[in-house]
Amino acid sequence: MSERINSLVVIDVHGSQCTPSDFECMSAAFTVAAQNDGQVAVLALIDPEIDVDLNIAPALILKGADRVFWASKENLAEHDLGSYVQVVSEAIEKVEPQVIFFTHNNFGADLAPRVAFRSRAAIVTSTQAVSCDDRGKILLTRVCYGGRAEQVIKPATPTVVVTLREKVFEPLEDNEERIGEVSELGVRTLSPRVELLEQNREEQKGVRLENANVVVSGGRGVGGPDGFEQLKELAECLNGALGASRVACDLGWVPHSWQVGLSGKTVSPDLYFAVGISGASHHLAGCGSAKMIVAINTDQDAPIFSAAKYGVVGDYSELVPALVAEFKKIV
Ligand SMILES: Cc1cc2nc3c(=O)[nH]c(=O)nc-3n(C[C@H](O)[C@H](O)[C@H](O)COP(=O)(O)OP(=O)(O)OC[C@H]3O[C@@H](n4cnc5c(N)ncnc54)[C@H](O)[C@@H]3O)c2cc1C
Repeated sequence: MSERINSLVVIDVHGSQCTPSDFECMSAAFTVAAQNDGQVAVLALIDPEIDVDLNIAPALILKGADRVFWASKENLAEHDLGSYVQVVSEAIEKVEPQVIFFTHNNFGADLAPRVAFRSRAAIVTSTQAVSCDDRGKILLTRVCYGGRAEQVIKPATPTVVVTLREKVFEPLEDNEERIGEVSELGVRTLSPRVELLEQNREEQKGVRLENANVVVSGGRGVGGPDGFEQLKELAECLNGALGASRVACDLGWVPHSWQVGLSGKTVSPDLYFAVGISGASHHLAGCGSAKMIVAINTDQDAPIFSAAKYGVVGDYSELVPALVAEFKKIV
């Protein structure tokens, strides 16, 4: 007989709305709960000025939460995750979950291992599928060998902490008939163990890479930052976002936040331009679910052409301006 599996989803809310990634996490948790007669609880960490009852809690309940716990970030120091671990631990005590979900973003990747250590739980990171076997045991799928293979993990511990890749799970439709409980969790102020010396926030301009319908990514083949200026023109005329291969980021041509791939972001736009990118499995792990990949590359044998729907063999510095000129006529 399968056991009941309760889930706890931990989300870090900026502003007054949850993000699609929060709802993707909810969707994974709900799928597990629905198969095992379990419940979904959410811990929402929110900005002090936000009223949780206005948008956040109702939206989470419509998307499958049976219980919403919330805590104000007023007493949580962003750079000192000790206080975050403590508040998540309090939620764990209340919910006694078998699975604890985080999004695999900077927040989740930082906090999840600490929570796993504190809870003596296994951790599975960068998960891209969640299911249960016929005995109700949770199974977690993630890629390995640089995106060339997949592994399915059955955790041996009673509790498992899971980080979920973005853009892999579909958020659930709202169910207006759902009801849920909402309660606040107190936050104990801990004496900080680290001191913040400097903080630099990257300015977000234009469409967010993870949510863009069109992504124009450049790799080593664009030759340097100037090459990205040409790609910017293409992205702008299609209202798209710019992305990059790891090499382009590591060389300092563009910020690391633009990196698409296994150790970067996952995107699934309608249209993905891979310009001067060879198509290593590590890169494709982040863009393989795009509806259409268009590759521009001087090497006709580049692996990217196997993943692309359309490919153009040639020098990007001639092809991209020609594409921009054509798109400008029609959009
Ligand atoms: C653990 C691990 C994780 C990784 N994670 C990532 C990741 O998240 N994302 C990622 O991208 N990589 C990742 N990598 C690196 C990855 O394996 C590749 O090295 C990288 O993707 C290659 O980048 P690139 O395609 O820009 O460069 P290259 O492989 O050097 O390809 C450059 C391409 O540009 C073409 N080119 C050259 N000149 C022109 C021109 N004028 N016009 C058009 N085309 C031209 C060339 O023919 C070539 O195909 C990871 C590697 C490891 C080991």
